[in-house]
Amino acid sequence: MTTDEQRATPLTPVLSRYWDAPRSWTLETYRAHAGYRALPKALRMQPDEVIATVKDSGLRGRGGAGFPTGMKWGFIPQDDPAKPHYLVVNADESEPGTCKDIPLMLATPHTLIEGIIIAAYAIRAAHAFVYLRGEVLPVLRRMQYAVDEAYAAGYLGHDILGSGYDLDLIVHAGAGAYICGEETALLDSLEGRRGQPRLRPPFPAVAGLYACPTVVNNVESIASVPAILRNGVDWFRTMGSEKSPGFTLYSLSGHVTTPGQYEAPLGITLRELLGYAGGMRAGHELKFWTPGGSSTPLFTAEHLDVPLDYEGVGAAGSMLGTKALQCFDDTTCVARAVLRWTEFYAHESCGKCTPCREGTYWLVQLLQRLEAGRGTEADLDKLLDIADNINGKSFCALGDGAASPIVSSLKYFRDEYVDHLRQGGCPFDPARSTVWA
Ligand code: NAD
Ligand code: SF4
Repeated sequence: MTTDEQRATPLTPVLSRYWDAPRSWTLETYRAHAGYRALPKALRMQPDEVIATVKDSGLRGRGGAGFPTGMKWGFIPQDDPAKPHYLVVNADESEPGTCKDIPLMLATPHTLIEGIIIAAYAIRAAHAFVYLRGEVLPVLRRMQYAVDEAYAAGYLGHDILGSGYDLDLIVHAGAGAYICGEETALLDSLEGRRGQPRLRPPFPAVAGLYACPTVVNNVESIASVPAILRNGVDWFRTMGSEKSPGFTLYSLSGHVTTPGQYEAPLGITLRELLGYAGGMRAGHELKFWTPGGSSTPLFTAEHLDVPLDYEGVGAAGSMLGTKALQCFDDTTCVARAVLRWTEFYAHESCGKCTPCREGTYWLVQLLQRLEAGRGTEADLDKLLDIADNINGKSFCALGDGAASPIVSSLKYFRDEYVDHLRQGGCPFDPARSTVWA
């Protein structure tokens, strides 16, 4: 394969266009790069026209589920003037391998703020919130700095740009729980309660923050809106496919020569992205990878040419999710990687429902035994049985996500689990083997 073939689809830096510019996070730099030019245009439109534009663009939620953004905005009921509307930006990025929203907020927080003002205007909200991971203090500080700059420049607060529209934006620090990235747990946490998922329906669009109509959107989704308003729907649709249009941020990590964020049209393949990232590290081959973080079923080298859009990844048996492409080479023990992820999900399980709370605990016990070369082949079927009792039977998506790497790793690498049992330890690390010890 030639380099040209590997790079057939060009990268399309829109959100990441000036991440490397000096003081990229300031209002001055943002304005120098066409920043806040979409806002006056949006404020001259009727709110419903803005919603229609985002609907027509086909923008789909970049937080993982790919739900159409404009459609979500359109769900906000307009028939009860007594109930305020809220916009909440989910900036609680924490799916393993996912590292796109935090770099975006660090590099160009005003892109997000401009998107927030446009989105809040469209859904007729006077208050918006950014729910951000409290541990990432530098991002929190940078967001707050940018919000202060936006207030001072008249982009936030009373009578924005003389339009008569008022908006207050609050940056809220979460306390570092993975489950608070689940939209309804996030809302509970924002209201000051312990974050645990709520029953849906009602979806937040109908009863969200303080039981009022609320749009919850991911950082990247909202940050994509100014470019759509500025350049138009047709421009956005020149990228990607009919059902998955536009550009997006892919996070490449693991045994890749140049890991990082690569912005490209939806539908690019991992083979093409690896062409830009310098391939796998020298002397090694790709063994398995996650198309959308560890809660999406694993792929192998045979999936290198799957189009990375919602339809392509779905047809190949996984999910696009957060587009966190964690790539593992031939030196990696799949059982250990799956154990590590499962420990994470067991630790982060909020405990509200039995299949996930108990199931993830037992998955860890079995995987620890198997990875150490103990247990029996029957344990492999027991793993699948427990995963089956979690998947689709848990209260929220965390349970399904925990089952994904188990089922897919056994589908593609059952022999490797069996090798652990035959050798009495990890074939990738003789030092840990109970036989060789
Ligand atoms: P979902 O498909 O249930 O919902 C997606 C969005 O659409 C939600 O905002 C929901 O309110 C809205 N929605 C769906 N149906 C609706 C309806 N009928 N009426 C009104 N609104 C409706 O997905 P989810 O459970 O919210 O999220 C799961 C995804 O989260 C997974 O795909 C995973 O990739 C992703 N995820 C992301 C991270 C991260 O760090 N970004 C972490 C964990 C999981
Ligand atoms: Fe909590 Fe897990 Fe149940 Fe979700 S699936 S509600 S995280 S116990």
